[in-house]
Amino acid sequence: MHLLNIHGVGDVRLDPYQRPDPGPMDVVVKMKACGICGSDLSYIKNGGIPGPGKLTPLGHEGAGEVMFVGSEVQGLKMGQAVIVNPMNTVSFIGSGGPEGAFTQELLVREGRLNHNLLPIPEGISYEIAAMCEPLAVALHGVNRADAKAGDKIVIFGCGPIGLGMVLWAVDRGCKDVIALDLSDERLERARSLGAHTVNPSREDVPARIKQIHGAEMVFGREKAGTDAYIDAAGGPKILADVVALAKRRARYVITAAYLQPIELPAGPMLTTEMTITTAVGYPTEMPEVIAAMSRLKDKIAGLISHKLPFERVLEGLEIAATPQSAKVMIEFEGAAT
Ligand SMILES: [Zn+2]
Repeated sequence: MHLLNIHGVGDVRLDPYQRPDPGPMDVVVKMKACGICGSDLSYIKNGGIPGPGKLTPLGHEGAGEVMFVGSEVQGLKMGQAVIVNPMNTVSFIGSGGPEGAFTQELLVREGRLNHNLLPIPEGISYEIAAMCEPLAVALHGVNRADAKAGDKIVIFGCGPIGLGMVLWAVDRGCKDVIALDLSDERLERARSLGAHTVNPSREDVPARIKQIHGAEMVFGREKAGTDAYIDAAGGPKILADVVALAKRRARYVITAAYLQPIELPAGPMLTTEMTITTAVGYPTEMPEVIAAMSRLKDKIAGLISHKLPFERVLEGLEIAATPQSAKVMIEFEGAAT
């Protein structure tokens, strides 16, 4: 057996691994599919999640088949197809705890049905099921933006999370969803999900947004008709651009991880009463994502750009760092069943 571990800054290895024996409250999942996340790449850059001399096992976007159920676990059965909700695991799977889902057999300590292990609906493949986690992150961002049918939305960044936001915003009936990215490959995916696209490397962002969403005057300043902006990119200019564009009561949600402080032009915000907030994780969204999977499975499949077997996970990490890729999905033995 193997487990993907961060050993230090930029040092990630597929190590031989001995899975701990499960206890009476634990469940073991035979992994079938696990996506590579942007946060995995950040963890590698940073040398892992801080802790005295410890390794950081990776993988938090997993789906698989139950292969062991502890005697005190209720409701789960052998052979059941499940999605792991890592946020609800006691060992923070793939985010600093002793377990990561890039392994053949994942120990889920204190496994609980509909809490940290969620059943996969009939007719949904393991790869689609493994998209639950990033799609839940995306949905939470859209929810935090209070995006409603008919709202005009701008989404900065078309990585897997930004694309997921486009998917949810379009699905919800938002009007004229605009997606921005520097990569034309990524913009092409956003377009196929139903978004207007803008490439800031060669287009005038404020002009294009006003052209698509319309413009209106607020205290003598021309503002865009956009109702909500979601930032899944993290760029030093985005906040200033949004403040300059924001109309009265516009909403701006930051979901990107900013590593450096950015300047807040508070003055021009005063007259618009705009709100700035943040979104992280998915406190309630996973069941909603799972309920929508059958309806949206073809669109979800379009977010997966690469599929690689587990033995090639290190190569997968390199692919995930390129702007041409969307979700890189790692498959384990029997993923297609
Ligand atoms: Zn993730």
